[in-house]
Amino acid sequence: MWSTMQDFPLTITTIMRYGTQVCGSAEIATWTGDGARRRSYAEVGERAARLAGALRALGVDGDQRVATFMWNNTEHLEAYLAVPSMGAVLHTLNLRLFPDQLVYIANHAEDHVVIVDGSLIPLLAPVLPQMKTVRHVVVVGDGDTAPLDGAGKELHSYEELLAAAPPEFDWPEIDERSAAAMCYTSGTTGNPKGVVYSHRSAYLHSLSVCTGNALGMSGADVVLPVVPMFHANAWGLPYAAMLAGAALVMPDRFLQAEPLVKLIEAERPTIAGAVPTIWSDVLRYTKEHGSDLSSLRLVPCGGSAVPEALMRGFDEIGVRIVQAWGMTETSPVATMAHAPVGAEGERAWQARVSQGRVLAGLEIRVVGDGDVVLPNDGEAVGEVEIRGPWITGAYYRDEDPGKFHDGWLRTGDVGNLSPDGYMVLTDRAKDVIKSGGEWISSVELENHLMAHPDVLEAAVVGVPDDRWQERPLASVVVRDGASVTAAQLREFLTDRVPKWQLPERWTFIAEVPKTSVGKFDKKVLRRRYAEGGLEVERAD
Ligand code: ADP
Repeated sequence: MWSTMQDFPLTITTIMRYGTQVCGSAEIATWTGDGARRRSYAEVGERAARLAGALRALGVDGDQRVATFMWNNTEHLEAYLAVPSMGAVLHTLNLRLFPDQLVYIANHAEDHVVIVDGSLIPLLAPVLPQMKTVRHVVVVGDGDTAPLDGAGKELHSYEELLAAAPPEFDWPEIDERSAAAMCYTSGTTGNPKGVVYSHRSAYLHSLSVCTGNALGMSGADVVLPVVPMFHANAWGLPYAAMLAGAALVMPDRFLQAEPLVKLIEAERPTIAGAVPTIWSDVLRYTKEHGSDLSSLRLVPCGGSAVPEALMRGFDEIGVRIVQAWGMTETSPVATMAHAPVGAEGERAWQARVSQGRVLAGLEIRVVGDGDVVLPNDGEAVGEVEIRGPWITGAYYRDEDPGKFHDGWLRTGDVGNLSPDGYMVLTDRAKDVIKSGGEWISSVELENHLMAHPDVLEAAVVGVPDDRWQERPLASVVVRDGASVTAAQLREFLTDRVPKWQLPERWTFIAEVPKTSVGKFDKKVLRRRYAEGGLEVERAD
């Protein structure tokens, strides 16, 4: 028997209509350095209609890809709404990618239009001539467009296009399974791979982000996505905010600790999402300057493991960090680490430092050698697999069957699941250190080291060892003005990890190399070690 329910499609158009009509008085503020410029959601709705009309006039009449090369700002939100709702596909270009990767993904996606922030013209100009399928470049705001001349593209001003376009657009009916947006993983190995989100997946992900077991977002919230809109859709925060009628505050290009803190003090967001490195800078600045972050009720943090010391530091100033885990392939939010109801003290901390529990609608499991599904006993360690309506089932025009298994995505993350569903990640599959047949978690060693008061950053990688095949090498960045020796750090770790896991190779470096999206680039550290480019001392 079929239900009697309407088969109403789940689309970004519906999110846009709700946000801009039912919650039209909510505001989006974009930081300008010393204040904010503001627009209501109703105005954003009209401008999205004008943008869709303008893009149609540029020949976007089907599922062409419209790329953005932009910071987090109002105009980027307008593109987030207009492009998918008109039936085209939004492709957020990650401006931190290396130039050859940018060219690769724009060509692979076959971008037709690029919308670029004026301040980013100098970054786009050198790669634009090689973006073969791009016909039009639309420039937002001020900026010298001369560097774009000669690339063989038609240049337009965003505001002029909008002014000339009609204030209404006849939004088409859209199949909820069709492509809405695409995002490439940063590709620490090989070429970046494209993930294509559907209207349905974006809608369901947004609903899920709004639920109480995730962010519990409502019209009373003011949401600050520090995480870039070009990286996994800013964790879905912009769409979720529109769906909740929550106000948005956008940092634009002001992503250092000082302007972020000023923005938080002035705009008083209640929710702000960013990766751990940003929050550790913000915490340091806040402690030095006695700043006021009290408006924040919830700080979702992820992208890499969140050090316990960072969470405790924020607890001390009354701000709650909640760890989240996900990947481009998972839209991205998949788990959140709220402590179980009633848990206090160490039990609560044990949950909070884990990667958390899967959001309702998704399923997760741990798989061991020979693809055997392992028990959720908090001990058995294997690769995490995940499935659900906002998990990718393939890559765009890129066969990678090894990443999929019986309808599950192999995440490349290694860890365990507790009986009550908390996931503890011990490593990425490629970063696990295999010492004498046993696994050492590089992440665990890093977290302990970063809890030492003199350590700013620490990265641990496996290096070849004659006796044990692999042993950990600890690369440590010492805080300004502090001094600590390898022997002291080893001593510090003694009570925290089993003796056989203690690193005997140590190196002190000025900075941990980072990938284009700010994660520790362990590949570079391994290479530097192999080439003899690190000064290594031993402490046994
Ligand atoms: P990439 O870094 O490969 O471009 P993503 O940005 O999509 O891809 O990052 C996804 C990966 O980031 C995950 O597979 C996981 O390894 C790591 N990650 C994300 N959140 C967390 C977290 N809370 N703890 C540990 N690792 C995390």
